[in-house]
Amino acid sequence: MVDMSNLSEIDIDLEEEMAWIQAGATLGHLYYEIAKKSRVHAFPGGICYTTGSGGLISGGGLGSLMRKFGLAADNVIDAHVMDAKGRILDRKSMGEDFFWAIRGGGGSSFGIILAWKLKLVHVPEKVSVFRVHRMLGENTINLLQQWEHTAYLLPRGVQFRHRFLQEPVINCTERPCLKKECHEVPWIGSVLFLYNKRVDESLEVLLDNSVPVYKLLQGTSDFVKTPIPEKGWKMIQRLLLEEERPMIILDPLGGRIDEFSETELPFPHRKGNLYNIQHLVNWDDNSESVSSKKIKWMRKFYREMEPFVANSPRTAYINYRDLDFGTNQEDYSYSKAKMWGEKYFKRFERALVLERSPPYIVKKQFGFQRGRSLASFTMQLPRKVKFMDFRRCTPGVGAGGIIGGGGLGPLTKFGLAGDECCRCSRDEC
Ligand SMILES: Cc1cc2nc3c(=O)[nH]c(=O)nc-3n(C[C@H](O)[C@H](O)[C@H](O)COP(=O)(O)OP(=O)(O)OC[C@H]3O[C@@H](n4cnc5c(N)ncnc54)[C@H](O)[C@@H]3O)c2cc1C
Repeated sequence: MVDMSNLSEIDIDLEEEMAWIQAGATLGHLYYEIAKKSRVHAFPGGICYTTGSGGLISGGGLGSLMRKFGLAADNVIDAHVMDAKGRILDRKSMGEDFFWAIRGGGGSSFGIILAWKLKLVHVPEKVSVFRVHRMLGENTINLLQQWEHTAYLLPRGVQFRHRFLQEPVINCTERPCLKKECHEVPWIGSVLFLYNKRVDESLEVLLDNSVPVYKLLQGTSDFVKTPIPEKGWKMIQRLLLEEERPMIILDPLGGRIDEFSETELPFPHRKGNLYNIQHLVNWDDNSESVSSKKIKWMRKFYREMEPFVANSPRTAYINYRDLDFGTNQEDYSYSKAKMWGEKYFKRFERALVLERSPPYIVKKQFGFQRGRSLASFTMQLPRKVKFMDFRRCTPGVGAGGIIGGGGLGPLTKFGLAGDECCRCSRDEC
C-alpha cells in the first residue's frame, strides 16, 4: 500500500491549456485550482470530487462533461509512472502501449502513477444546472423510458443524469411532486451542485477530501445498449422498494464518448452503449446478518437485471469494481481472470504480453491477478510490449504456458510470442 496523499501538487498552465497534477491530489483539488485561475476552463473528471485522481483517471473517469469532452482518461496527454525498478517513466520512455494501458486499464496494474498531464477544456462562463424531483409512481416509468431514448442523443453540452432513490431527498408535499431547482452558475458552481452542495458554497469545500459518503456500500454496474422495456422497469421498481437505501444512477453516454473506437483506450464501452447504470445499496450496521442480507439483495438485483443490459459479454465499469466478478487466487488463471477481464475490457483476449520475457518469469512470479491484465507485466519487466490474441490459445493457460508453447497471435508478423522469449533467454537473460 502506498500513501499518495502527499503527492498532491497541481500546476495549471492556462497558456498551454493543460495541467500537471500529482496523482495523490483529489479531483476537488484539481477543480479548485482550475476555478481559482479561470472561469472558462474545466477538466472532464468525475462528479464526486472527493475521489483521487490516481484511481479515477486510470480507470476511465465518467463525469458531467463526458458527453462533450470524453472521459477523464481521454484527456490525458502525458503521465509520470514509477515502475517496479524505481524508474520514473514519461510517455516517451514508457512507450505508447504502456501509456495506452494506464488510461482505462486500472492504474495499479501497471505501476505507480505519479502525475498526470491533463488537457483543460473550454466551458462557457455560465452553465445551467437543474434538478427535478419525481416521486416513484408518478408516471416514473414513462419518464425513464423517454429519458433512455433521448439522453444519449441530446446535444453534447447536455448531460441529463438520473438518480433513482427509494427515500425522498426533499420534503415534497405537493402531488405530483414538481419541486425544481435551476441555477445559472460558473462551471465550478455546477461541480458543487452535482455533489449536493450549494452552488455558492465556498470553493474551499472542494479541498475537503474527508467528506463522509456512505458507511457501508455494496455496488456494481452495467452498461445498457437497448432501452429497458416496461417490464424491466417494473422489476427494478419492485426490487428497489423491497430493500432499504438502494439506489441506481444512470449516466448517459453518447456524444464525444462515441468518437473513440472500442480499442483506442482500454475503456471499451463506446458507441452502441446508451448509458451506464450503477446499482448500489448502503447501510450502517456492520453486523454479519445485516451485511449479508444487503449483499444477497444486491446479488439478486444484479441477477434480475441480466435480460435488460448489455450481454455477450455482460459488461461493467472497472472503477465500480465488483468483487463478485472474481478476486486474486493462488492459482492465477486466465479462465478465472477472464470473468472480470471481459466485463471490464470486453476484449480481454487482446491482452498485452511482453515481447521479451522468459515465460517462466511471467508465469511463476506474476501470473494473473484481479484487476491486472497481462499488460501489468510491463511494470515488473518493463520492456517492449506487444499484443497477443489469446482466443487462439487454450483458455485457462497462463501466459507462461502460452508463450512457452509458441503463442500465435494477430501480430505473428513479429513472430510468435515464444520466439521473442527465446531470443531474450539466449542473448540477454
Ligand atoms: C463516493 C464515490 C464517488 C465516485 N464517483 C465517481 C464518478 O463520478 N465517476 C467515476 O468515474 N468514478 C467514480 N467513482 C469511482 C472511482 O472512480 C473509483 O473508486 C476510483 O478507483 C477512485 O480512485 P481513488 O484514487 O480515489 O481510489 P483508491 O481506492 O485509492 O484506488 C483505487 C484503485 O486505483 C489504484 N490507484 C490509485 N491511485 C493510483 C496511482 N497513483 N497509481 C496507480 N494506481 C493507483 C489503487 O491501487 C486501486 O486499485 C466514485 C467512487 C466513490 C467512492
